[in-house]
Amino acid sequence: MATRKLIKTGSFSLGRPSPKNEMTALDNKHIVLPPEMFSPELNILEMEGWLLSSIIMRIFKVFIDRFSYQKVSSLALREFIIDVCDAYLEVPYHNLHHATNVLHTTYVLLEKCGLFEKLNPDVLFATLIAALVHDIGHPGNNNLFEINSFSELALKYNDLSVLEQHHCALAFELIKKHNLNSIMSREDFCVFRKTIVTCILGTDMAHHKASTELLIKKTNTGFDFKNLDEQILACKLLLHAADIGNPIQSPEVCEEWSALVSQEFHNQSVRESELGLTPTHPLVSCEMSFYSGEMKYIQYVCLPYWEALTEIFPELRDELEKIYQNLRIFTEKHDELVRKNSVFQLEQYS
Ligand SMILES: [Zn+2]
Repeated sequence: MATRKLIKTGSFSLGRPSPKNEMTALDNKHIVLPPEMFSPELNILEMEGWLLSSIIMRIFKVFIDRFSYQKVSSLALREFIIDVCDAYLEVPYHNLHHATNVLHTTYVLLEKCGLFEKLNPDVLFATLIAALVHDIGHPGNNNLFEINSFSELALKYNDLSVLEQHHCALAFELIKKHNLNSIMSREDFCVFRKTIVTCILGTDMAHHKASTELLIKKTNTGFDFKNLDEQILACKLLLHAADIGNPIQSPEVCEEWSALVSQEFHNQSVRESELGLTPTHPLVSCEMSFYSGEMKYIQYVCLPYWEALTEIFPELRDELEKIYQNLRIFTEKHDELVRKNSVFQLEQYS
């Protein structure tokens, strides 16, 4: 099972004064970005924390150039991105690396599905912002922990999508602080806000079953992209696919992400025990239970969703194949440990 140290994220302004030029606001000529920047293979976990803000800025720069998008100031966007990076906490999984990974994957999925050609640029821009901020300020525990511990956030949001509402509220505080919507009309801002709120609230795992069922229904009808609400719905479902999509990565990278999730779950269980609460996640006591957990996650959570998504967007079949491959590998590793364990027990009792 892969292990990884907590990565310090460091300075996001990269030690340079704020640029004054709209054209270069999102560029940093001193940073060499990976050549495979827009490949699904890009491994965000390899990146030092301070590089992440440059990757995020590059994604938005490419988007802005592609659409000659003029409804946001690049200077304001730059300062917003730096603040967003700073607002992610140094928890094992729901940190800036995860946010950058989801933003990157969302971009790649939109591209692969041909949605940059089909959807309204305002919806696309808002979806990328939503992907970036979707876990902002995540404390490293789930909604159930917030609710069971009667946390301030749970009381504030009445136990409903507590963390997702928190992420939305924090994101809009920063949007307001940086006046990110200063060039948008009122109508533009309504679309921007609706897309971001819909996408972020759509990442609550409490809605996962309903989203899977909705996707399965959509395999018959597809999306009516002439309708703006359908466009927003498609973006919400795609962003959720990216959020649960670690198994579309290579087996080594997928396992690294899984180990980080497992670490965060473990930390939560420890805190729950300290508070006298029943642990939400079963403690992963050995490698065998780690692989067994991963197999269940892929089989029952990730695969049904991605199978339906790939039926609607056949362009994603390579990603679906990766999920099958990761399931096979986790199963082999699990079965090998079971076999070794039974040989060990036989030797002990013979
Ligand atoms: Zn997430």
